[in-house]
Amino acid sequence: MNNILVVGGAGYIGSHTVKYLMKNGCNCIVADNLIYGHKEAVLTDNFILADLLDIDSLLNIFNNFSIDAVIHFAAFAYVGESVINPQKYYNNNVVGTINLLNAMLSNDVKKIVFSSTCATYGEPKYTPIDENHPQNPINPYGKTKLMIEQIFADYEKAYGLKHISLRYFNAAGCSADGDIGESHDPETHLIPLVLKAIKEESYSLKIFGADYDTFDGTCIRDYIHVDDLAQAHYLALKRLDIYNGCINVGTGIGVSVKEIIHAAEKISGKTCPIEYCARRPGDPAKLYASNDKAKKILNWEPKYIDIKNIIQTAWDWEINRKF
Ligand code: UDP
Repeated sequence: MNNILVVGGAGYIGSHTVKYLMKNGCNCIVADNLIYGHKEAVLTDNFILADLLDIDSLLNIFNNFSIDAVIHFAAFAYVGESVINPQKYYNNNVVGTINLLNAMLSNDVKKIVFSSTCATYGEPKYTPIDENHPQNPINPYGKTKLMIEQIFADYEKAYGLKHISLRYFNAAGCSADGDIGESHDPETHLIPLVLKAIKEESYSLKIFGADYDTFDGTCIRDYIHVDDLAQAHYLALKRLDIYNGCINVGTGIGVSVKEIIHAAEKISGKTCPIEYCARRPGDPAKLYASNDKAKKILNWEPKYIDIKNIIQTAWDWEINRKF
């Protein structure tokens, strides 16, 4: 299995995965609409400007390339925006995926690895969260991802689709060699915003709630390095013939907002100006993964366990950004 179509391969996790796959002998064809992705992040010449809502451009890809499997990252992923404008999310994420699946099936391509999310679980009933945890997403973004997981299960039964959905926890960090990294506009994620506050005098980090029932009052999340996520996709591609279903990808370690800030201050040697603010609606106190299934089925093991090492790669990128 060598020719991999990476849809959404110009985005943060997609571009790191393309880099990892190429290093490991895969030939990647990257398709992206570049609405949020960066052309500079695509480290192959096999790039096609395409949108999942444009059926002809999708069919063209399958006509022009012999594709063995697809990795699908192409999604809008701003939770708050998905509440305000659900139409945008259901169209792009769900309809776009159905278009992709139609194009795949009509070209007899039946293997897909999909970027799902821990947001499909909704408010946690227990931690660590395993794959059997009930799925009750509390925003349209999480619902689109759950719907797609469910479509895959039906397509498996009816058409023999082979699928693995990787439910990411909090993707973090950047390529250790600094050639690609995280660059969102607007940026809403904690680690890049902490680093921005450290770098830019005029900006301070807003802590969304310091009265949670956690050891220091701030929210706890599971930050997983983007290269560890990339490796999980590579391993998932190789397991499609023996396993179909959903797998968590997280370190299994919970880290608080304050711990992130302290680690970033240590790494940069500078202070992060902070402001205490109200809780952000829909933020649970604690979210971290059970990653036993990823270890067992994918034979995957995260390399970045210490949050300092993850933040170090993000800091290196931040002080020398290429895009
Ligand atoms: N957070 C924060 N200030 C920010 C951005 C995020 O306090 O400016 C907190 C947020 O409430 C959550 C954690 O940092 O507890 C991680 O948020 P992020 O948006 O990075 O990822 P999410 O967990 O929402 O997917």
